[in-house]
Amino acid sequence: MGRLDEIVDKKVTPGDEICVIEEFMAGPGTYEDERGWVRSAYIGVTVADILARTVAVKPYVRVPELPRKGEYVYGVVVHVKDEYAVVRILSSATGRRFRDYYTGIIHISQASDKFVRSLFDAVREGDIVKARALTTRIPVNLSIREPRTGVVVAFCSRCGALLRYRGGKLVCPECGNVEKRSVSAEYGVLKGLI
Ligand SMILES: [Zn+2]
Repeated sequence: MGRLDEIVDKKVTPGDEICVIEEFMAGPGTYEDERGWVRSAYIGVTVADILARTVAVKPYVRVPELPRKGEYVYGVVVHVKDEYAVVRILSSATGRRFRDYYTGIIHISQASDKFVRSLFDAVREGDIVKARALTTRIPVNLSIREPRTGVVVAFCSRCGALLRYRGGKLVCPECGNVEKRSVSAEYGVLKGLI
């Protein structure tokens, strides 16, 4: 096992030789070069999977897995101003989880395909929105202009109950409050998750 000690739990930087492919094959965070060496892709520490005969590098610096441009994401609205809303992005709409909860911004120009005077008419704090990522930098610019995007879950701002979408309106089943949002055509599809 002397050789194994030299391979695992070693600090490496990108390009460092870890082992040859006869010893371990290239796992996550590594790559194989044309001469059959497994090298590190990150600054991190080596770990081996003895059964799978692979070696991996656990990066020290967390590699951000950001939403891709054009990707649909779900997020919760955490802050609303007249001109923009701040969203905590929770996951991709396909269920792909991101490494962190990234911050997204919905600018008023991206809040609806119709004219919106204030973001408060489109989203409220605590709403869950389905949005499209326009950029890949943090904060991610989000759009809810498309019919499938927009608010998918909303709560009554008077009593906190889950609002129902009826006849083009969001109505509170508890207190009868009627609220305005930029509602997604998919409103209610996430209800089972809450
Ligand atoms: Zn209510």
